[in-house]
Amino acid sequence: MQPWIIGAAILACLLLALGIAARFLPPHAELPSRSSRSMGGRATLTVGARYSRRIDSLAAQVQGIFERLEQELSAYRPDSAISLLAEKAGVSSVALSEDSWRLLNLALRFDELSDGASDVTVAPLVRLWGFGGGPSLTGIPSEETIRERLSLVDSRRVILKDRTAFLPVKGMAVDLGAIAKGYAVDRAFDLCRSAGAEDFLIDLSGNIRVSGRPQWRKNWQIGVRDPFDRPNLIGTIILRSGLALATSGNYERFVEVMGQRYSHIINPRTGLPATGTAGVTVLCEDATTADGLSTSLFVVGLKGCGKLLQKAPRADVLIVPDKYPIEVWLTRGFAEVFVPIPQLASAVRILPPPLT
Ligand code: AMP
Ligand code: MG
Repeated sequence: MQPWIIGAAILACLLLALGIAARFLPPHAELPSRSSRSMGGRATLTVGARYSRRIDSLAAQVQGIFERLEQELSAYRPDSAISLLAEKAGVSSVALSEDSWRLLNLALRFDELSDGASDVTVAPLVRLWGFGGGPSLTGIPSEETIRERLSLVDSRRVILKDRTAFLPVKGMAVDLGAIAKGYAVDRAFDLCRSAGAEDFLIDLSGNIRVSGRPQWRKNWQIGVRDPFDRPNLIGTIILRSGLALATSGNYERFVEVMGQRYSHIINPRTGLPATGTAGVTVLCEDATTADGLSTSLFVVGLKGCGKLLQKAPRADVLIVPDKYPIEVWLTRGFAEVFVPIPQLASAVRILPPPLT
């Protein structure tokens, strides 16, 4: 047989094996893991085999962190500091816990960095479009209603002082949904590390951070979902210890009105659900930054990502625009750790695209 035929056959087998393997990653099914409902999603802690006897105790402590943060940060809970902030808007300032204070400050930093593509006071618009505990959407909101809500959205107006916050206009409210899960993952990561665990993976609704490595593999591997065909993957990322990953997608939460899909991420400039992006995955040193950036990048899309990434903390990004046929845009650093499924190898492009 010709050597090139043998070579091609070996390559075909390798690609096939990679495709099959990718489809089954995560969850590192061979490792001990515990899952629960947390912060409106699914939380999973997976540990390296040598920690199997400690998994229940670690999972209980991680769950404790998520529950405490949900109590403080959720706009769905009437007794949370965030709900109280909205209740007292235009009336008085509200004392914040250490975590809500830190998180609100972090959120404001992302808002500034993204020139308002993310805005922590976007809550009245989020609710208008049927998310964040708002009434279900029965039709498209009128331009006038959108304009009214837009007048309540501007995080530069939030007044912070001595661990208190004040929303100056009645009707204003904050929504920490863009970064709260990433922040929670970082707190859980710190807890596991200080409890002496080295090999673990925390996944809170796609906000992921890893430490060490699974026992039998060199590094943790995470599958990136196909935004157009959810159960399938577009590829696999190999994650170095300590790194974090977050994904914002228009398939995660959306409402449908008259056959049209509206995403849960709102463009604070237009008051309309953000369009043009199907999915964004961010890879960086901590989960809070990954989460914050993924939401802002979803809003600015492929066109605005170059400018935002120049100002942002070091991060690598994968963006799938909302168009057919599928294109997968990656920064160089992302390309180094991402293995696309063989069918998509020719759809991969390197970021940043030319600024337009
Ligand atoms: P993520 O899934 O991390 O991208 O966060 C999406 C969540 O952030 C939504 O469900 C809202 O709670 C909130 N959100 C939506 N649009 C924005 C925005 N433009 N800026 C900040 N938070 C937003
Ligand atoms: Mg986010």
